[in-house]
Amino acid sequence: MTPRKISFIGAGNMTRSIVEGLVANQYPAENIMASNPSQGKLTALQETLGIHITQNNADAIDFADLIVLSVKPQLMAQVCSDFLKDTHLSGKLVVSIAAGITSERLCEMLNGHSQVVRVMPNTPSSLGYGMSGVYASAKVSDDDAKFVAFMMNHVGETLIVKNEDAINTVIAAAGSSPAYFFLIAQSMQEEAINMGMDASDARKLVQQAMLGSAHMIKANPDTPIQTLRENVMSKGGTTAKAVESLQNDKLAHILAKAMQAAVTRAEQMS
Ligand code: NAD
Repeated sequence: MTPRKISFIGAGNMTRSIVEGLVANQYPAENIMASNPSQGKLTALQETLGIHITQNNADAIDFADLIVLSVKPQLMAQVCSDFLKDTHLSGKLVVSIAAGITSERLCEMLNGHSQVVRVMPNTPSSLGYGMSGVYASAKVSDDDAKFVAFMMNHVGETLIVKNEDAINTVIAAAGSSPAYFFLIAQSMQEEAINMGMDASDARKLVQQAMLGSAHMIKANPDTPIQTLRENVMSKGGTTAKAVESLQNDKLAHILAKAMQAAVTRAEQMS
């Protein structure tokens, strides 16, 4: 696919993650622009990644064929109304990565512009290990929807969902979940330190076990995850005791509740 010109409105954590992944995976930096009110984040992006930068959102919109709206959801309406005073979106595709804002609501914020795609990425995109959900309404052409998936495939894997509600499941299972895994890793590192390990060795143990487990899930797509777990457990052994303790403490329930909390919050934001 021919690279299009892409502008990111908002140059925070998620923009940085996606742009790093794009540039590292050979998306031409000269086709990317980022816009942000403060210069500091922009300068860092330009110096490290070689992309174009601006403090003026309208200039970023005029530069690109595809606009990625990457500001906090609560600022979205104001940001859109401000840039629409100085420019227009006709012929441009708009991608929103904001949690919670539906494509219908976004279309309203954009004065009826309906060429809108929702993408829910996550921060491992910066290393090419991202997971993104993509939802394009019926008004978006197949070519445009495919281009968005092509763009996000530069930074990891992509799941195209046909039903917009499924974007909230993507948020709960992938957009927000790196933080759950970091919390688990942090807690395990702390306990290994309590057991006498130094912090760097404890981190290495946890990080490699987590990475190895993820690779095992990916390398065995036809094996249920439950079977992979059971393969590690011998009756009466150490792993069986640890897993029994997690199950007695209702880990599955705790995680389900956390994912529901993410969905509820996304619904409140819409
Ligand atoms: P962030 O706060 O790091 O970045 C937002 C950026 O927008 C900031 O740099 C801020 O200065 C800038 N900004 C504020 N007002 C602006 C304006 N008027 N014009 C242009 N830029 C403006 O937030 P983030 O974590 O990068 O999140 C951005 C979006 O990505 C949010 O909508 C969030 O829901 C979504 N998202 C984030 C994650 C994540 O893991 N962080 C995952 C999926 C989706």
